[in-house]
Order: sequence, then C-alpha cells, then structure tokens
Amino acid sequence: MHIKNLYEILKNEPKYREKQIKTAIFQKLIEDWSEATTLPLVLREKLKKEFDLSIRAKTFFSNDKKTAKALIRLNDGLAIEAVLMRHEDNRNTVCVSSQVGCPLKCAFCATGQMGFKRNLDAMEIVEQVLFFARYLKKTQKKITNVVFMGMGEPFLNIDNVFEAIKILNDKEGFNLGMRHFSISTIGIIEGINELAGWGPKINLAVSLHAPNDKIRAEIIPIAQKYPMEEIIKALKNYIKKTNRRVMIEYIMMKGINDSLDCAAELAEAMKKIPLFFVNLIAYNQTGAFRASESLQIKKFREVLEKKGISITQRYKFGQDIDAACGQLAVKSR
Ligand code: SAH
Repeated sequence: MHIKNLYEILKNEPKYREKQIKTAIFQKLIEDWSEATTLPLVLREKLKKEFDLSIRAKTFFSNDKKTAKALIRLNDGLAIEAVLMRHEDNRNTVCVSSQVGCPLKCAFCATGQMGFKRNLDAMEIVEQVLFFARYLKKTQKKITNVVFMGMGEPFLNIDNVFEAIKILNDKEGFNLGMRHFSISTIGIIEGINELAGWGPKINLAVSLHAPNDKIRAEIIPIAQKYPMEEIIKALKNYIKKTNRRVMIEYIMMKGINDSLDCAAELAEAMKKIPLFFVNLIAYNQTGAFRASESLQIKKFREVLEKKGISITQRYKFGQDIDAACGQLAVKSR
C-alpha cells in the first residue's frame, strides 16, 4: 500500500471517490477491493493492482488472550512486529513500530541489539493499525489508542510518523483523535520541539531510564549527544506550548539504576519539569541486565512518593509471546 499510488489514482477520479475509498479502507475495513461494491469494477481492479489491501502477517496470542503480536512481512521481505493490548477498561491499544530495527543500540533493548535496517513509510505504520482494526472488527471492537513504542525511534523517522498519524486522524477515514496517540522517544530534542508545534494534543513519553547523564550514557549511547539538562529544557518548552503531562519512562534494572540514591536523584531532577509523571517499568530480561527485585521496586517507589512524585507502574503484556516492552526483535527471516 503506497499512499502515493492511491493519490495518483484519485487524481483522475471525481472528487467524491476519495471519501468512498477512505470509508472502504478505514471504516468498513475491507480486506480486498472486491468488497468495495460502491465503486465501479474498473476502478476496483485498478486499485487491486496499484493499492493492494492485503497485509501479510503471522499472529501470536498470549495465554491470557490479552495480547496479540503480529509479525508483518513487508514488500521487500523485511519484517516488523506490532502488538495489540486489550485492557480491562475496554481500551484496545496498538503498539506500532516506526523503523525496521533501530540505530540507537540501547544496551538493554532487544530491538537495539538487532541493528538498523530502514525507516518505515507512512502506510507501513498505518498497516499495523489496520491489521488489528480488522481483527477487532470481527467482535465489533475498535482500536482506541496507538502508541509508538514498538521497534525503532519515532523521532528519527518523524516525517513518516507524522504522515501516518495524519492519515489515521482523518475524520473521513479512521478518525482516531490526536489525544489517542502517544510517541515515546529516547530524548531526540529536535523531535520534541517539532512535536510541540505540529501535534500539541499528542502524548509524549521520554525514555529516561537513569537519574543522571553518567548512568544514562552507560546504557544509552545517544545520551552523549542529548544530555538530560537539554532534554528537560525541551520538555519545559513542550509543556509550555501544549499544557500536557509528559510520561517519564524508567525501566528498573538491578544494580544499574535501582538504588535508593538513584531514586532520590531522580526525584531531584524531576523537580525541574512542570507537568509529568514517572512510569516505572519492570525490565524484561532480553540482554545482559537483570530485572530489579519487586521489593527494591517498592522501596524505590516509596522514595519517589515521599518526595511528591506521581508514579504509575506498567502492566506487563504478552511476555509469553515475546511481545512485551523491549522484546520486539525479529528473530526469523
Ligand atoms: N525509541 C523509543 C521507543 C522504544 S520502545 C524510546 O526509546 O522510547 C518503548 C519503551 O520500551 C522504551 O521506554 C524502551 O526503553 C522500553 N524498553 C526497551 N527494552 C526494554 C526491556 N527489555 N524491558 C522493558 N522495557 C524496555
């Protein structure tokens, strides 16, 4: 599905075709153009050739059925993963990938370890959402949230990420409100600044994972380019422009960033951010690091709470199918 091919076809069609086509793809969620019976046969055949709706994917379900992972095969043979999380409160969140692999090489992350292949184009991002939207439709359910927390760094592929959001936000199409998107970044400052201007209603999450630059640089190579102080400055500007609460992500890794001194230092650093909450993430052991003990997480949390920091803890989705945070990496060709 190359969006340019679709725009090309629409150029030679009457104006109302665009709406019919968007309705078919994004609301009726058809999987083949033969289902689009409102369109003339010649057009359907042209669309089938130049804007094929099929998505090649293998799906895996967790034992508790709350998580589904799709291994999606792209046209050039490369593969990416996307995850559907079904929350108790009826939210259905898709975690999408923005790149094939990732160039950041964070020491704790499975995607980082597989290296970088290429950026996804906008429709390759949209397809991940469409795939699960079609699946949920069978039980009359809908996607309610899209988070850019799969493979890759969204702000290193910002144009395609924004284009994908624009397509999914389109009122005549999928019509998912801007507040229902979240972008998670390692702290690419240019991206934070751009988001503040372009998508002020989109949620922002920052993978901090350390209370200072020294520890941060040990586990996140790109931290050398983006010091915490600069990131916090960008966040202040973002909050001033958007008035939105930023999520500070913090993976708990044993002996790395989970001491009570780290907690106190983190609380101190957070004081500079006007509107935020800390999301403590249990580490999924994919590399050389170990997850923090639950007692240590509890104590760490207590230090932060005593200092008035608001905290949430992330539910672990889909560990048994390698679909949990940071576990996305394509093993098979
Ligand atoms: N590049 C973006 C998106 C990455 S994935 C970013 O860095 O934010 C989303 C989150 O999962 C990030 O916070 C990432 O640091 C975290 N993560 C990576 N590996 C993990 C692991 N093994 N266990 C738990 N969380 C992990």
